[in-house]
Amino acid sequence: MPSSTVIRIQRAPSINRNNYSNTNDDKKHTLSMFRLFIHLLDYIYLFNINIFLHVLLLLKRIFKFFSGFLSFVFVSLCGSRKKLIQFQSVKYYTCPLQPLSLHRLHFLPRKILVLDLDETLIHSHHDGLIRAVTGKPVGPPDFIIPVEIEKHPVRFFVYKRPHVDYFLEIVSKWYELVVFTASMEIYGAAVTDKLDNNRNILSRRFFRQHCTLESGTYSKDLCVVNNDLSRIFILDNSPVAYRSYLFNAIPIKSWFFDPTDTCLLSLLPFLDALRFCRDVRSVLAMNLHLHRNLTMTNPNSLITQVLPSSTS
Ligand SMILES: [Mg+2]
Repeated sequence: MPSSTVIRIQRAPSINRNNYSNTNDDKKHTLSMFRLFIHLLDYIYLFNINIFLHVLLLLKRIFKFFSGFLSFVFVSLCGSRKKLIQFQSVKYYTCPLQPLSLHRLHFLPRKILVLDLDETLIHSHHDGLIRAVTGKPVGPPDFIIPVEIEKHPVRFFVYKRPHVDYFLEIVSKWYELVVFTASMEIYGAAVTDKLDNNRNILSRRFFRQHCTLESGTYSKDLCVVNNDLSRIFILDNSPVAYRSYLFNAIPIKSWFFDPTDTCLLSLLPFLDALRFCRDVRSVLAMNLHLHRNLTMTNPNSLITQVLPSSTS
């Protein structure tokens, strides 16, 4: 019994040591596995972070590329939008005149259409100095005019009103065209040359020196162009410019940058019909309500004018 007891006593510690050793090994193994797992996680984490950063960088480059591409497309489209609108297939269908109409025109003197430049046919600004106007330039200017003002070189960036070329082409067949601008000759002549484009339809020109300075503003005396007021009228965005000739004026909305403007096109049917009247004042006097603000501020401006009795 004692021996068996001893054996039990001797065996018991050996069993415990083995268990302890196995337990330690297990713990070490578990710890090493855990460490390995942690390292693995670290590697995976670092690997994923690297991948994530690379993906972010790639996305950034893709976004940058597409934003640049879209900007390029947008700028190109904006630049060509005005041209697309200006050169779209808008046509004013001129029907052949009846013999009676031709006969009537034959006995009527050719009328004179006086054209303003700024904000009527074109809009311009110089050397990046854009005036506080509604809208922004759509695309590049149609042409740039380098001039020298008071010994300083100045570049004017000129934008043509939509359909201006077509308008000039059509009305030049109906009227004698005259440019009358309150701008300086060095600028006005260069702009007119560009609009004329060697067609020789804008050969008569009047500039600031031909205007009358009244109350700090320039007005245009149509008698400087022609004394016969029955056959001369002006197209101008500024009522002040023709304040003495309200019966000889067609007002037009000021134009700055709107590429969808169709004011010039809308005038063609009216101008087509106006060439058949004997006295332009008999028709244009009916526009008096359009100059209401001007007549209210200057009621005496109409006294000097004589409204024709004939309406034909
Ligand atoms: Mg003007």
